[in-house]
Amino acid sequence: MHFNAYGGNAALLAAALSNLDDGCDAAALEELLSEHRVARARLTTSQLAELRDWSARLWAAFAAPSVTEKVAVANKLLAEAAASPYVSTHDGQPPHLHYADEHADVVTRVRAVTAAGLATVLTEAGPQRLGRCAAPGCRTVYVDVSRNGRRAYCSRLCATRVHVSAHRARSLEQDLTTARPA
Ligand SMILES: [Zn+2]
Ligand SMILES: [Zn+2]
Repeated sequence: MHFNAYGGNAALLAAALSNLDDGCDAAALEELLSEHRVARARLTTSQLAELRDWSARLWAAFAAPSVTEKVAVANKLLAEAAASPYVSTHDGQPPHLHYADEHADVVTRVRAVTAAGLATVLTEAGPQRLGRCAAPGCRTVYVDVSRNGRRAYCSRLCATRVHVSAHRARSLEQDLTTARPA
C-alpha cells in the first residue's frame, strides 16, 4: 500500500492528533506537531483549545461507521479548513502541492493539512483505510497501511486482549456445557 508522501504524512498526523488525550497539554501537542514537521511553535491557550477541538472532529472521521458519514465529516472539515492550496517549487523541488501557506497561523496549517490528509486517504486509498480499533472500550484510530487493508485493532495489545477474552468466553461456555447434569 503506497500513499503519496504528503497525503500519507498528513493522514498520519490526523490520526496522531485524534489519539491525543482530550486533556492533553500544550507541550504534548507541540511535540507532536514538531515530530510531524508541521510547526515548531509555542501554542497559545486559544490555539491549544482550537486544536483540541479540531482533533476531536478528526477522530470522528476515522470512527464514523459508514462511508457516507466518513465523507460527510471530511467534507465539513475541508470546508472549514478553507485554506488556499498552491503549487510550490521551493528549494529546487519539482512542483508539488502545499495545502496552506507555510507562514499561516499554526491552527490554519494543521486544519488544512489534516483535512487534506483525510481526503487523500478517502479518495486514493479507500474509506476503509481510516479505521477505529475494534477492541471494546478502545478509542484509538489509525490509518490502515496494511497490505490487505483489513486491520481491525490499534495494537497487538488490543488484538491479544480481544482474542483472550473470546477464548475465555468459549471455554466458559464449554465448562457450562460439560457441567450440565446428564
Ligand atoms: Zn514543499
Ligand atoms: Zn485498541
